[in-house]
Amino acid sequence: MEKGKEDLRKRLTPEQFRVTQEKATEAPFTGEYVHTKDRGVYRCVVCGNELFSSEDKFDSGTGWPSFTRPKKKSSLGERKDRSLFVERTEVVCDKCGAHLGHVFDDGPGPEGKRFCINSCSLKMEKK
Ligand SMILES: [Zn+2]
Repeated sequence: MEKGKEDLRKRLTPEQFRVTQEKATEAPFTGEYVHTKDRGVYRCVVCGNELFSSEDKFDSGTGWPSFTRPKKKSSLGERKDRSLFVERTEVVCDKCGAHLGHVFDDGPGPEGKRFCINSCSLKMEKK
């Protein structure tokens, strides 16, 4: 295993490592930030990149933290994911490539996006 990954394994919890590095999905309604309504910024748990604002968080009822848009478009990368039978769009941190979750086209905001993100990929900084 590469050195960078070895360091990450020490720094992250096993679940954070599985989600961000191996694209696992945390079980619904188990994540730290599912019901969080505190104001603040959600950063990438791996590299600290600012990803989402609490202002764009909404309760999607899915069991994962959901956002209508990223804080800045440039902080996220998108990749086609064909690992299930349907094609989905994977969302990654643009800075370090950490897996965050998926984006769907059924969101409530003006852009119609729903960013479905694992709590494990996020570290919240309260305002
Ligand atoms: Zn990152």
